[in-house]
Amino acid sequence: MPPKSPLPFSVCVYCGARPGRDPAFTEAARATGTMLARRGWRLVYGAGDVGLMGEVARTAQAGGGATFGVIPTHLLSREVGKRDLTTFVVTETMHERKKVMYVNSDAIVVLPGGAGSLDEFFEVLTWRQLGLHAKPVIVLNSGGYWTPLRALLDHIVAEGFAEANVRDFVTFVDDVAGLEAALSAASL
Ligand code: AMP
Repeated sequence: MPPKSPLPFSVCVYCGARPGRDPAFTEAARATGTMLARRGWRLVYGAGDVGLMGEVARTAQAGGGATFGVIPTHLLSREVGKRDLTTFVVTETMHERKKVMYVNSDAIVVLPGGAGSLDEFFEVLTWRQLGLHAKPVIVLNSGGYWTPLRALLDHIVAEGFAEANVRDFVTFVDDVAGLEAALSAASL
């Protein structure tokens, strides 16, 4: 049996650098940060102090949770690099940022967000599709925000551009309780 990792179960969270229109998104981000800290799980994220990213990180910190952030140099001021994280990593490029986040995570979570969050989601989904990893990918469908994404995945399967199992690589949950349950199953 391989030696047990000394690191806590690490959860990569992709989410908006903006808060979005619905205050429920901010509530979901806060509840996620609080839940991660309460479970003793480490937050891995894009190290910004803006939008939903900032909400998740601040609540995780407030709950005493470990935080691991990764930000490229050129976004340090735009996304307000959060330097008081447990671990703060600065990369040269976006690609390095995504890679460092990914290799330091055991599971991937997607909260409401924009094109950046979608880019990150599709990258880990395509790597999963290619068999490059088996990390769970869990989408928090807060207020139905990601229902069009679920429909898009069904569409690419229905139209013959993906195997039906692409749907099995993504777990959609409706609330943070569902997210916690899915992560809990993955952490065993
Ligand atoms: P958004 O969902 O558009 O608010 O973006 C969420 C996060 O994804 C922000 O930290 C963005 O800087 C980041 N992001 C946007 N595009 C990319 C990309 N191509 N590679 C890595 N991160 C990105």
